[in-house]
Amino acid sequence: MRTITHWIGGKPVTGESTRTSPVWNPATGAQQAEVLLASTTDVGAAVSAAAAAFETWSQSSLSQRVKVLFAFRELVNARIGDFAEIISDEHGKVLSDAKGEVQRGLEVVEFACGIPSLLKGEYSDQVSGGVDLFSFRQPLGVCAGITPFNFPAMVPMWMYPVAIATGNTFVLKPSERDPSASMLAAELWAEAGLPDGVFNVVHGDKESVDALLEHPDVAAVSFVGSTPIAKYIHERGTAAGKRVQALGGAKNHAIVLPDAGIDYASDHLVAAAFGSAGERCMAISATVAVGSAADALVEAVSTKALATKVGSGRDADSEMGPVITAAARDRIVDLIGTGAAQGATLAVDGRGLTVPGHEDGFFVGPTVIDNVTTSMDVYTQEIFGPVLSVIRAGSVDEAIAIINANPYGNGTAIFTGSGEAARRFQRGVNVGMIGINVPIPVPMAYYSFGGWKDSLFGQSHIHGPEGIAFYTRAKVVTSRWPKVAEHSAGGASIDTEASGSSFHFPTAT
Ligand code: NAD
Repeated sequence: MRTITHWIGGKPVTGESTRTSPVWNPATGAQQAEVLLASTTDVGAAVSAAAAAFETWSQSSLSQRVKVLFAFRELVNARIGDFAEIISDEHGKVLSDAKGEVQRGLEVVEFACGIPSLLKGEYSDQVSGGVDLFSFRQPLGVCAGITPFNFPAMVPMWMYPVAIATGNTFVLKPSERDPSASMLAAELWAEAGLPDGVFNVVHGDKESVDALLEHPDVAAVSFVGSTPIAKYIHERGTAAGKRVQALGGAKNHAIVLPDAGIDYASDHLVAAAFGSAGERCMAISATVAVGSAADALVEAVSTKALATKVGSGRDADSEMGPVITAAARDRIVDLIGTGAAQGATLAVDGRGLTVPGHEDGFFVGPTVIDNVTTSMDVYTQEIFGPVLSVIRAGSVDEAIAIINANPYGNGTAIFTGSGEAARRFQRGVNVGMIGINVPIPVPMAYYSFGGWKDSLFGQSHIHGPEGIAFYTRAKVVTSRWPKVAEHSAGGASIDTEASGSSFHFPTAT
């Protein structure tokens, strides 16, 4: 059995802990590797390596950093295919989708390549007589990233390119369920010329996460995962005095109005609901069909759900792969049953699907549940599987009210031909990322990504301008250079004309 190690100080490291966790191939249901689970001591070794590297990396010039970032960009780009295969084998998503996630991560690396421009400070000349004022930003120190299983390459890339470009060092704790993409990233950083210890990977579970949250040398923690853990990370990390951004779970709604093209809306809804088997934080899992849109929409999405090709992520014909584990499959199947028991209509029932040749894989077929109400478990829980719930509403305002009553606020979309309705929606909805006839509105890397309400704890969204701000802190310098009267053997002396004590609070003159 292959053992996946940590990456500390520029090389693979086994560490002291011998605890392991299985890494499955979700398409076959077979265990393909085991990953080491770090102890507190192992985490300490990674943080020490990162703290030592910070001494020199934080002093490296912007030009040096940019050279490494460009080299890393080229290497990741050249190895997208390898990343995609690793992701597909451990996560289950289809290869084209896995390539797409690496591409979106790469965009953050490309954004970080512009760090000399992004770190430019401000300068105000002559704010008072002979006084100038300027600001610049400096790195924090050792930053930690704790990431979920569903985007094993992209979500860590939301974090570490920006942290490293701004002069920090990094300890990544990826999901123990699909850990290998992070190891390839570590190898490519080394090949790109990143000094040892700037980028480290520790694998683990709660013990390693708690060790990062408590370690006095960890300055900041970026987390992406489920809401209960995000809340825990934010509370414990901030209590330990760290800067924390913790992105949580989601229940993303799409409103479909009668004036939307049903064919266009249903094409995009099935892709957004069933792509990556619904295991996307921006997946559409609830559709609010307004008025007469409902019957035609349910019919169209049901037809397209039944036509979705489900199979191994490695099969070029597959449009949707398995879910991550047998436990995830069983939970999703149970919830579909609960939906029916609570009075919803199973328009398409994906339970019991088997894929020929992959009978032991963790598959659930695309499922459409109609007549869902906001009190049902399929609505109140984040299913994180290929299940689309349809809620019927009488008006666009009622639909917006449903979204705003939901505790999550990650992403949402509206399908309509009306600019007025779209504008009312974009202004009225309490959600961080909004799509207008775009179902998965993930912002480009040069904007920041983040939700509202229970989808984000902490102030900062991730990557983009807020990412730069998160990984740095500002200094503002007020400077005056009085005229030096003359240089003498005894040293410089200040022109007395510019001196004199004034005891009032400094004000501009
Ligand atoms: P998760 O919360 O179970 O795990 C996330 C990370 O936290 C992993 O590294 C895991 O090892 C660690 N962890 C798990 N339990 C822990 C505990 N008790 N104490 C400390 N650490 C713990 O999430 P997941 O199942 O890997 O990922 C799916 C979730 O992530 C979904 O809820 C999804 O919506 C969310 N997600 C959100 C975003 C976003 O941008 N808001 C993006 C991707 C995924």
